[in-house]
Amino acid sequence: KLGNETAKAELGRAAWKVLHTTFARFPEQPSEDEKEALRSFVHLFQRVYPCGECAEHFGQVLAKYPPQVSSRSAAAMWGCFVHNLVNKKLKKPEFDCEKIGDAYDCGCGEDDKDTKG
Ligand code: FAD
Repeated sequence: KLGNETAKAELGRAAWKVLHTTFARFPEQPSEDEKEALRSFVHLFQRVYPCGECAEHFGQVLAKYPPQVSSRSAAAMWGCFVHNLVNKKLKKPEFDCEKIGDAYDCGCGEDDKDTKG
C-alpha cells in the first residue's frame, strides 16, 4: 500500500491515462479474441494495481459493472462511467462522458494495427 497521497494521486492519473487511451484505441469492431483481451486486461489491472484500497474498491466496481468490450465506444463510455464512480467516492467533479471523444489521443498515428505504436 502506498502511504503517500501525492504518489497515490500521481499513480492514479497515470493509470487512468493508460486505461482511457487504451479504450480510445480499442477496435471499433473487435474480434472475440480482442474482446477477451480487453476484459482480461481490465481484471488483471485491478488485481495487480499497487494501491490496495483502490484495487479493493475497483474490484467492487468491476463486480457490479463488468468491462464493456463490444466496441470502442462501449469501452470508452464504460471507462468514463467507472472513473466517475471513483470520482464520486473521492468527492471529485463528474466528468462529462460526451466529451470523451477527443480527450485521449495517443499520438500513435493512423488508426490501424500496422502503425500502432
Ligand atoms: P484523476 O481522477 O486522476 O483524472 C485525471 C484526468 O482524467 C482528469 O484531470 C480529467 O481530465 C480526466 N477525467 C476525470 N474524470 C474522468 C472520467 N470519468 N473519464 C475520463 N476522463 C476523466 N484514489 C484514492 O484515493 N482512493 C481510491 O480508492 C482510488 N481508486 C482508484 C482506482 C483506480 C482504478 C484508479 C486508476 C485510480 C484510483 N484512485 C484512487 C486515484 C484517483 O482516481 C485519482 O487518479 C487521483 O486522486 C488523482 O486525481 P485527479 O483529480 O488528479 O484526477
